[in-house]
Amino acid sequence: MTRLVLVGPPGAGKGTQAITLSERLGIPHISTGDLFRAHVGEQTPLGQEAKRYMDSGELVPDSVTNEMVRERLSEPDAKSGFLLDGFPRNTKQAEVLGQILAENELGLDAVIQLKVAEDVVVNRLLARGRADDNEEVIRRRQQIYMSETAPLLEYYADILITVDGVGEVDEVAARVLEALRDHS
Ligand code: ADP
Repeated sequence: MTRLVLVGPPGAGKGTQAITLSERLGIPHISTGDLFRAHVGEQTPLGQEAKRYMDSGELVPDSVTNEMVRERLSEPDAKSGFLLDGFPRNTKQAEVLGQILAENELGLDAVIQLKVAEDVVVNRLLARGRADDNEEVIRRRQQIYMSETAPLLEYYADILITVDGVGEVDEVAARVLEALRDHS
């Protein structure tokens, strides 16, 4: 059983890596960004609430995010493990994740940091051109990563695995898998 979290700045390639890694490890990929975008697409009340924040690069309030994750983790496929992508994004969310797992006498196995320099990620995001990828919003998301999310690296220092996120997709995935093997 494998319970993993992927951390890295917006544009580090978490989503891309998560797809490969979840396949290779046989665990579901749970992306809060994807969950929010599905809600926005279906115009649910949660989606309407989340959209305002997403469009400006702000974090969606924890109360909304945490409930959505709690529900997702209670689904049967997550019992065999999971790869979380985009959650937790601050230490409050990390505490909630810890509580959700502790209620089932579980814990995280590892937190994988994809390390990519800021100028590299900003260029990748400008090239990607998603709806929320204009320059101002990209800069705001980077700022929020530094102030809100980067403290998680300290929070999870005991189980942190840092991997160089620059390179071909397969190459980076191979690095992560190797680091996980060494870790266990
Ligand atoms: P990126 O990796 O480019 O930041 P994501 O797809 O992970 O993009 O997230 C897109 C947006 O969804 C974020 O900018 C934020 O508004 C919202 N979001 C995603 N995950 C969370 C979270 N854990 N807490 C709060 N907001 C979130």
